[in-house]
Amino acid sequence: MDDWTTLGYLAAAVLFILGLKRLSRPRTAVRGNQLGAAGMLIAVVVTLTDNAILSFEWIAGGLILGAAVGALLAVRVRMTAMPELVALFNGFGGGASVLVAAASYIEAVDLATDSSRLSAAAALASLIGALTFTGSLIAFGKLQETLRWSGFGGMRIVSGAGAGAAVVFGILMVVDAGNVLWVWLLVAVGALLGILVVSPIGGADMPVVIALLNSLSGMAAVAAGFVLDNSLLIIAGSLVGASGLILTQIMCVAMNRSLLAVMFSPAPSGAGGPSADDVYAGKVRSTSADDVAMLLESAERVAIVPGYGLAVAQAQHAVRDLARRLEDRGTEVVFGIHPVAGRMPGHMNVLLAEAEISYEKLVGMDDINPTFEQTDVTIVLGANDVVNPIARTDPSSPIAGMPILDVDRSGVVVVIKRSLSPGFAGIPNPLFAAENSLMLFGDGREAVVDINKSLQQI
Ligand code: NDP
Repeated sequence: MDDWTTLGYLAAAVLFILGLKRLSRPRTAVRGNQLGAAGMLIAVVVTLTDNAILSFEWIAGGLILGAAVGALLAVRVRMTAMPELVALFNGFGGGASVLVAAASYIEAVDLATDSSRLSAAAALASLIGALTFTGSLIAFGKLQETLRWSGFGGMRIVSGAGAGAAVVFGILMVVDAGNVLWVWLLVAVGALLGILVVSPIGGADMPVVIALLNSLSGMAAVAAGFVLDNSLLIIAGSLVGASGLILTQIMCVAMNRSLLAVMFSPAPSGAGGPSADDVYAGKVRSTSADDVAMLLESAERVAIVPGYGLAVAQAQHAVRDLARRLEDRGTEVVFGIHPVAGRMPGHMNVLLAEAEISYEKLVGMDDINPTFEQTDVTIVLGANDVVNPIARTDPSSPIAGMPILDVDRSGVVVVIKRSLSPGFAGIPNPLFAAENSLMLFGDGREAVVDINKSLQQI
């Protein structure tokens, strides 16, 4: 690597680190994104001009194809499908690491330039990359709610045997150098492990597994970086791996679950819990936009708790208008943000920031929970699992033990959603039948617009 390449890689690495730092605050996030993109541009240009590359035809073909697919996906994807897209991108990252590492390893074997170091790195990249690829595809299906398969009896024994086989094949890649059969077997076992490990995970544990897969895609890139002897890939992969691990830890704390518990003792399925009829029959009270406006009119403090339905309804601009109208009348308005509300980490923060709702108004779970008792009206907008009190009481529920937003402790709770359908965890929610709850059935955006109109007329 010549001095210019090293210098270019150093500049790109610095830009990645500065970009990540700025991404941690909403106010500086856009600039952080631009810095990261600039770093990536430098990285790509420096790599392409490195004299190790002799032909651009394949690269150009790959660029055109990749850019076309990426642009198409970006334009066509619904906002609510972003989490699935992120899961796919994690998977493609892992898949790319497998292809790069395995191809480099096979080439090195052909040219007899392989070494123990290269074989060990290729083994790690192949195993982690393949696991990330198939694991992410399973996560994609679960997020789309099209895949509900959670495995078969004795699956853990098969996973254990698979993990053992992976270790053996990895060692054989190093000690029986020159036999490319081991890399193929390792890729196959890694792919199988991805399916076996992620399939039983579901319900409230999904945010943890998404963050972990994100981290694994970075770690696969680190190993591929060692295969290629490319320092920038090692640095970039480490940044993704480390930030993914931090996110995994944050998600574990948010769900009150350890990573080991998520991986090896998946949350209960919820079968056997109360049925929707038991929970709701004769107890649900519905309301109208006019009545909610009257309630809000006399409230001194209002909390708005958004969930995945906010994303589906694209209600963030309507809710901003409602908050402003209330504030103009002297009402205190705060937004309660659960760390796993929506379908990806930070989902609610992103949507509310898009509507230019001041970040100071977004209050985290630990800070807002003690204040619900002093809150006159809480509007639950398209949230369900993150406000389900069953998490506190039913140990057989898929969200058992998950800290929730204690909205049921406020004076009145208005729940805006289209029906009594369950949320992601698939269980009924006693909040909807609570004595202090009122259901405003309808699309989140339309309901908030209607409340706003009614308030205007009061
Ligand atoms: P939920 O999935 O629990 O509930 C969302 C609710 O939104 C539904 O009950 C639905 O009811 C309602 N809804 C849907 N569309 C609309 C609409 N247009 N207008 C109004 N309401 C609507 O969401 P939460 O945010 O409460 O919880 C997140 C769940 O997702 C948790 O279980 C979490 O573990 C899981 N998860 C989170 C991830 C993350 O990283 N944040 C990743 C993967 C999973 P209805 O159909 O009746 O309208």
